[in-house]
Amino acid sequence: MKRENYRALDESLDPPRWDELEDIGAEMVRDMMQFLQTIRETPVWRQPDESIRRQFEKPLPREAQPFREVYEDFKKHILPYHLGNMHPRFWSWVMGNGSAQGMLAEMLAAGMNSNVGVGDQAAMYVDRQVIDWCKEMMGFPGESSGSLVSGASTANLNALVVARNAANRYIRQCGLQVYSGKLVMYASTETHSCIQKAGEIMGIGSEGVRKVNVNAAYEMDTAHLEELIKEDLVLGNIPFCVVANVGTVNTGAIDPLEEIFFIALKYRLWFHIDGAFGALLKLVPEYASKLRCLELADSIAFDLHKWMYMPYEAGVVLIKDAQEHRNAYALQPDYLAHHSRGIAAGPELPSNFGFELSRGFKALKVWMTLKEQGIDKYSRLIRQNVHQAKYLASLIRKTDRLEVMAPVSMNIVCFRYDPGWLNASALDELNREILLQLQEQGIAAPSYTRLKEAYCLRVAVTNHRSRREDFDLLVREVLRIGESLTEGVFSQEITSH
Ligand SMILES: *Cc1c(COP(=O)(O)O)cnc(C)c1O
Repeated sequence: MKRENYRALDESLDPPRWDELEDIGAEMVRDMMQFLQTIRETPVWRQPDESIRRQFEKPLPREAQPFREVYEDFKKHILPYHLGNMHPRFWSWVMGNGSAQGMLAEMLAAGMNSNVGVGDQAAMYVDRQVIDWCKEMMGFPGESSGSLVSGASTANLNALVVARNAANRYIRQCGLQVYSGKLVMYASTETHSCIQKAGEIMGIGSEGVRKVNVNAAYEMDTAHLEELIKEDLVLGNIPFCVVANVGTVNTGAIDPLEEIFFIALKYRLWFHIDGAFGALLKLVPEYASKLRCLELADSIAFDLHKWMYMPYEAGVVLIKDAQEHRNAYALQPDYLAHHSRGIAAGPELPSNFGFELSRGFKALKVWMTLKEQGIDKYSRLIRQNVHQAKYLASLIRKTDRLEVMAPVSMNIVCFRYDPGWLNASALDELNREILLQLQEQGIAAPSYTRLKEAYCLRVAVTNHRSRREDFDLLVREVLRIGESLTEGVFSQEITSH
């Protein structure tokens, strides 16, 4: 065989010239730093038009292309068409900004390409360290267990499976057939859709997720909870769990944890908390009494990519009883057996506490940014967001044509523009149009919801870049757009008569 042929056999993905790739890498870092530094001066959002969408309908690439060209493609066709959640005036759904430091940490994690699923490697200890810090943040005991997962949806599912299996130790072997009755759990009507989806995945069906009424502040009505439990017991159903919200997605309501805890105790139910973003208020002393009973939960799910501003993705599940966590997930065949020496030694497998085996090094960005900033900085930022939400609510209350639509208990403000002379459906239409114009003009990005049928603009502040002036601007712009729209309608009505 000729010499060239040997060379051809030994291909790899490494660059032909490392120095060139190094230059591109340095340029990427500079470009992204510039991008993040100037984000405030750019539109919150810009729509990917037809020509952009067409860029991603191409056949599988067969030929090589210089990395630089691919990077140019990214800069032209991907980067400008972001969702906007790094922007100081992005308040849609509940989303975090990430950070430049987090971005660099992600690069390091990708460079190491750690599989934090197995083995005696530093990444496994970092992963465990971060979970321990999360326990400390939530007031969970050191001997509880936990896992870093993709997000709160997965974290909730992880915990609810533990709750389901804790109710019967034969369930892993025999499945739901071990029960003669229907398994049921409870959650308020304001609960996030991922809880219902978890119920569906777990085989209890959406009907197995009982919807408990809420009061005027959108908090769980615990009298109704108890009624439903009693009803189920009479019907021969098997209640196993109650899910409490700390921060509902619509309005940020906190369910009455203490009452729910005692009801769970009385009926021997697993007490789970979905605290996707709200649980982070545990870091803010003003909420101490309201969240006093959070640590009484058997399990909690929350996100680090929302109100801890970590780059996507990072969610956390904590389970008070580590043995129940293992009972639900641990399964170690020979090829995963733990050794006392060598590469297969090290900490207990994360797969004992969840479904995933191969896992990325999500922990690194958390570890690095927490060390850099310190937890007190996060407490201050979270408190700042709460104050900003209250500030926005106060601006709205002071403004004639604006109306706050729900109590502002933490960082979410639901409101609408109401000129005072429109019927309900026209008012909905008007507010939807205001929202779309805010977004399409790149001014700000609130989202929306319906409260008691009424369409509202919804501002969820989990944004470390927002400043007070951003909320002044929001109010000004809502008024400007609202007025321009209603003046149009008004004059149209006059001229058409
Ligand atoms: C965002 C959210 C979820 C889902 O979390 P993901 O990280 O998007 O999976 C669940 N519950 C609440 C209350 C949320 O706000």
